[in-house]
Amino acid sequence: MNRLHEHFFQSPVPDYHLSLDEQQAILDIQHSILEMVVSNRPDQEVFAELCLMAESLLSNAVASIMMRQPEGYMDVLCAPSVPPAGQELLNGLVPSPVGGSCGNAVFCNEPIFVIDAAKDDRCGDTRDVFKEFGLSACWSTPIRDPEGRSIGSFALSSFEIRKPGSFHKQLLAIAAHMVGIILQRSEQQKKLEFMAFNDPLTGLANRTSLFSQIEAAIHTSRANMSSFSLLFLDLDRFKNLNDTFGHTVGDEVLTIISNRLKETLGQRAVLSRVGGDEFVVLIQDDSEAAHIASLITASLKQPIIYRSHSFKIDCSMGVASYPADGDTAEELLKNADTAMYHAKKRGGNKASFYEPALSKKAEQAFNIEHDLHNALLNNEFQLVYQTQIDCQTNKPIGVEALIRWHSPDSGLVSPADFIPIAEETGLIVPIGEWVVQEALQQMEPIFHSIDTDTPLNLSINVSGAQLNGEHVDSILALINQSAIPNHCIELEITETFLVQEAESSAVQLKKIREAGVKLAIDDFGIGYSSLAYLKRFKVNTLKIDRMLINDINTDADDRAISQAVIALGHSLGLQVVAEGVETAEQAESLKQMGCDIWQGFYFSKPVPLDSLRLKTL
Ligand code: C2E
Ligand code: CA
Ligand code: CA
Repeated sequence: MNRLHEHFFQSPVPDYHLSLDEQQAILDIQHSILEMVVSNRPDQEVFAELCLMAESLLSNAVASIMMRQPEGYMDVLCAPSVPPAGQELLNGLVPSPVGGSCGNAVFCNEPIFVIDAAKDDRCGDTRDVFKEFGLSACWSTPIRDPEGRSIGSFALSSFEIRKPGSFHKQLLAIAAHMVGIILQRSEQQKKLEFMAFNDPLTGLANRTSLFSQIEAAIHTSRANMSSFSLLFLDLDRFKNLNDTFGHTVGDEVLTIISNRLKETLGQRAVLSRVGGDEFVVLIQDDSEAAHIASLITASLKQPIIYRSHSFKIDCSMGVASYPADGDTAEELLKNADTAMYHAKKRGGNKASFYEPALSKKAEQAFNIEHDLHNALLNNEFQLVYQTQIDCQTNKPIGVEALIRWHSPDSGLVSPADFIPIAEETGLIVPIGEWVVQEALQQMEPIFHSIDTDTPLNLSINVSGAQLNGEHVDSILALINQSAIPNHCIELEITETFLVQEAESSAVQLKKIREAGVKLAIDDFGIGYSSLAYLKRFKVNTLKIDRMLINDINTDADDRAISQAVIALGHSLGLQVVAEGVETAEQAESLKQMGCDIWQGFYFSKPVPLDSLRLKTL
């Protein structure tokens, strides 16, 4: 027996003494109604059947179900044998001591049996109705909610004066009870449906519901040859707010934002919440997308005030349109998300429109991040070395170690593609340590084999994240353990790092120099670094960025900058290395400008250790 069934049969209704036939008649009604309920027949149909069945057990009578409305008065829910005009007259009945048997049953929350309405004071308000339809008796039982409160009435009204016996009292009680349960079941089903398709916090449509909306939009657009857009919206730095102020405040802010968005969008678009701080707007008219994005930005301009706090929340948005950017809900959402991510990458508080190149990049980045986690364990990294040549003697005077990744899935991946991801994920710390260790180990025998008065330099690239706290100690420990003298080792940090982070890493940079290890500024000439830093951190070398060298013979500006960098470096007592030298002309010009060291494909590509020919150059 299922729950509902149990509920029906253990009804908390009075237990009148009935004959076997009478008991059977009531059981029959219960069975029929129960069958209809479990086969999911619409409530109205079930109620109508219940009324008709009750009527069939009392001659010359009509059954009715009335419900108390939120406003307090009662309306007819079902009365299949009462003509519409009669129902109209009953509607609006106020539960009260003069509200007829139904109004009284609801008012008193107990069964009321009016035997002759014409003579009953309780029918003050309903006497006219009774008269008009020739009704005399009316027996009503309250319908109750699960807490036992009266919410309506089930009634049998007769065209003759009569008193109910046990059988009819029982019949009414059972019928009212069944109506109560059916209503409760529907209520719960509605709640379940709401929960299945809506976000409980904001009441907005959820992901499931969004998918069906997108599918419907695809269907319509296909038929009309029209297009629509999805705008993916993600709040900027919302996690910080949550972490700082707690989830209660976070939820409150989300609710306020969702209300603002609802208000801003009005009827123009459908809003759903698809994740913690992620919303999607379905824009039927895709030509409105840019305008809606700017409305959203404007709506979030006003700070959000909650309790004593004022929050300024920005968002990043990405737009993908059907059919140009995808023809399934999944694809459109993914591409809108990719565009949003792109907006975020560009600093947030922006909208970005999907373009196919973004997706390829995003996919690549995702795969790289995924595979990078195992690359170190699986020995997929390798070092190659690029020789540096003394411009005066034409002899090799050093090598720069450069990492290579042989990914089993993606093949050879350029460090330009995976180092930024390693930096973002923090994987650069173990990878960078591996580079230092491997370079020292591989180069040690080479340092031994060359005669001592040829100064040889080993340059190793380090990222900003490696210059925080204890990581520098680990690098220095490795260097100290190695047989290569510290002063032959140079760590390359980028100019961008020097501009943005040098202050917070001052202690670490000092440690490096105090250990006798040299410092080079990589990619110099594009990052506007402060000269004061070059002096303060006792930098040894400037490496002119490859971009400047590239056009040195064709672009007067690049030539002038390179010349200035060389002069500047020398005035500070620094060595200047030119990177990316690809032609004899470039090499010659650089030499004339006074550059100290060449590095580039013209002399040597980066090669594995066993191909490195330092002496033959
Ligand atoms: P970078 O430090 O500026 O390294 C020089 C890059 O220029 C290398 O690219 C090198 O192969 C390339 N190159 C050298 N000569 C020429 C030339 O004549 N023409 C052209 N077009 N390119 C030339 P690679 O090896 O792909 O490295 C790219 C970047 O990845 C490096 O730029 C560096 O920032 C980073 N990187 C490489 N290895 C490591 C590492 O072990 N640790 C860290 N943190 N970063 C690394
Ligand atoms: Ca470098
Ligand atoms: Ca460089």
